[in-house]
Amino acid sequence: MSLCSDLTEKLDEEILEDLTSNVKQIQDNVLEEILTLNANTEYLRRFLHGSSSKELFKKNVPVVTYEDVKPFIDRVTNGEPSDIISGNPITGFLLSSGTSGGKQKMFPRNNKYLENIKFIFYYRSLVISKHIDGLEHGKGMVFNFCTSENTTPSGLPSSAASTSFFKSDYFKNRPSYWHWSYTSPDEVILCSDTKQTLYCHLLCGLVQRDDVVKVGAAFVTILVRAINLLENSWKEICTNIRFGHLSEWITDISCRDSVSKILGEPNPELADLIENECNNKSWEGIVPRLWPKAKFIECIATGQMAQHIPTLEFYSNKLPLISSSYVSSETMFGINMSPLCKPENVSYTFLPNLSYFEFLLVDAGDKTEIVDLVDVKLGCYYEPLVTNHSGLHRYKMGDILLVTGFYNNAPQFRFVRRGNLTLSIHLEITTDEDLLNAVTDAKMVLESSNLMLMDFTSYADISTTPGHYVLYWELKAKYRNDIVEIDKNVLVECCYVVEESLNNSYRVYRSKGGLIGALEIRLVQQGTFDALMEFFITQGASSTQYKTPICIKSTEALVILEENVHACFFTDKSLSFNFSS
Ligand code: AMP
Repeated sequence: MSLCSDLTEKLDEEILEDLTSNVKQIQDNVLEEILTLNANTEYLRRFLHGSSSKELFKKNVPVVTYEDVKPFIDRVTNGEPSDIISGNPITGFLLSSGTSGGKQKMFPRNNKYLENIKFIFYYRSLVISKHIDGLEHGKGMVFNFCTSENTTPSGLPSSAASTSFFKSDYFKNRPSYWHWSYTSPDEVILCSDTKQTLYCHLLCGLVQRDDVVKVGAAFVTILVRAINLLENSWKEICTNIRFGHLSEWITDISCRDSVSKILGEPNPELADLIENECNNKSWEGIVPRLWPKAKFIECIATGQMAQHIPTLEFYSNKLPLISSSYVSSETMFGINMSPLCKPENVSYTFLPNLSYFEFLLVDAGDKTEIVDLVDVKLGCYYEPLVTNHSGLHRYKMGDILLVTGFYNNAPQFRFVRRGNLTLSIHLEITTDEDLLNAVTDAKMVLESSNLMLMDFTSYADISTTPGHYVLYWELKAKYRNDIVEIDKNVLVECCYVVEESLNNSYRVYRSKGGLIGALEIRLVQQGTFDALMEFFITQGASSTQYKTPICIKSTEALVILEENVHACFFTDKSLSFNFSS
């Protein structure tokens, strides 16, 4: 039974309490439902011979990666009937962001997936509104948008998960009980030209600045990008407001018509006010200055995206930053039940109705230990395995999570890292989490010189002997119109701080006999990371779900970075550690 359709029958809070209390029962029901539907698919018949027994499922169905299921997915995209993988007809495909794990992936979807997104949207807003007062009458300026949709050879649509949701009836006919309305009309969200969309979102948000109680985007990267766009186009936006006329380059007709209505009559007072704020030398706190009633920022900023938190805090004057959900193209997982906690303490409570979840214990040595959602242990690290309603069975997500507690009986997980992202020169393993922490330490050094690190990525350069870590950094002056003045000593110190913060094995190999060379920071021109994103988008990555990869594997992407390098710095002293082993 669909929980969404049940909303009117039970109080929302009761539903959440039920879900988080009856985890075992609900997970059992979900698995039973999936197996009954799918027992006769070609995929499962090989292991279950038509049975829908849960015991047989656990015993016979293998844990798989994308490469294992890709041949089946390819067959459906090429026109074979979708019942080779799913009893429920497949109605489209989802393109994963494709930057974190390397290649882009395509996942089958059906209405249950869209229903789950709607469910997550609704409940995460509900939880937030229980923690922050006075949201009922305000609006959200939320940078939601669509990317273009393709059609598979079999005639089914393929697009980013958010695009398929925004284009669906689930969003179009969203019920009036959704917690807040948006400052932008749906036409802006549906426009697939990212620059036009973001510009129009900003314009609508500024025109209705007194109504804005929340500023948001799916991921923090989009929000930082929107602020950059504001920095480059506030004068034009003010001219639009002053004369009540939208810039001619907004050519998407529906977008143009609907935004022109919101823009309304010339409003020189508002244009002056915005100009006054934006003309200020420092953009520190620009978000609450322009949107004085904003009570919080909602966007996912955990995991690899945490690198953008200091930048966002600078612009937002530390308005509460809420990472409200853990989501993917494979499934929705859960929501943050303590939205006002610090960004570094965010955990997500898994909701048992969304998919069937199992967990592979990380570092279990030679044995493979898989447990159910209700059996995970506090303090242990796991990789989730997903069995969903659209053809994935025991699918390895590649994310590593830590159990931090329980909400009723539902486990809460902190997102630790993408499991497959590592830098390595010798035998050391540097995870994205290690690198992120080390760069965060180095940012303290940058602080003293009024520079901000806008984005970074890394690369294990083995063309030198010994090989060494290269970090590409894009810097920006804290104060508007200031040029980025580079102090060599500061950058060299940053290299050193990063190295000192890396894990033991790195420092051992680096300090003993030069198995790893001195770490290098290469500064790139402003706009390089935008160019990098554009490149990944042309390769099929989705701009709505884009996350800067923490390490680069693609040679073409490296070329983009290299073409923009304007200065290089190395650690100039040996590490202070002397390991005896
Ligand atoms: P995609 O399928 O392209 O949307 O990417 C899904 C991936 O994004 C997940 O497997 C995670 O690695 C990452 N992700 C999604 N939600 C979060 C979150 N709340 N915190 C950290 N990483 C996340």
